[in-house]
Amino acid sequence: MGYPTLRQTEVFLAVPALERWRKEHSLAFPQECCVCLRAVQRWLPVHAPPGWLGLLRRERLLDGVPHCEEHGRQEEARLLVQVNSWSEWVCQIALIGMNEAFLLRTRELNQTGDMAPPWKAFPGYGPVSSGWRQGNGEYWLAHVWSSFWQRLPPAERQQYAHRWTPPTEWLSWM
Ligand SMILES: [Zn+2]
Repeated sequence: MGYPTLRQTEVFLAVPALERWRKEHSLAFPQECCVCLRAVQRWLPVHAPPGWLGLLRRERLLDGVPHCEEHGRQEEARLLVQVNSWSEWVCQIALIGMNEAFLLRTRELNQTGDMAPPWKAFPGYGPVSSGWRQGNGEYWLAHVWSSFWQRLPPAERQQYAHRWTPPTEWLSWM
């Protein structure tokens, strides 16, 4: 038998998912068991690893992870979660679980909708900042923003610019 294979996926929350996250610390999940994709019977929470010597109360990271009857017998979800808030508008969530299809569907559901524009995501960076060529700024621009923007049809790009009104220095960049 051996150990179950763990899969990891990285999710950058789009604006609708981010607002949901701020309000209720939950994500959009497919309505199927996170281990075997069977029908959902229980929704379980994910807690942070125990604190110092296990004496601190374990923080609840996430609610509502779907499980079937068989995999939902414990009190804890069969999913590990790591949350990194990079800024007010950038939240990266690493999900570690046993079913790759479930993880990919979860990513898709939570990356649907607008990604915040660069001037909101990294408010300290102007359009020519060196921050876009290193570290988190570079990673976000290359992997999150660019793929979001490239998928956006030209007509929707205009609506996007209208919704997010770029500051003067970003106008020509847009
Ligand atoms: Zn199951």
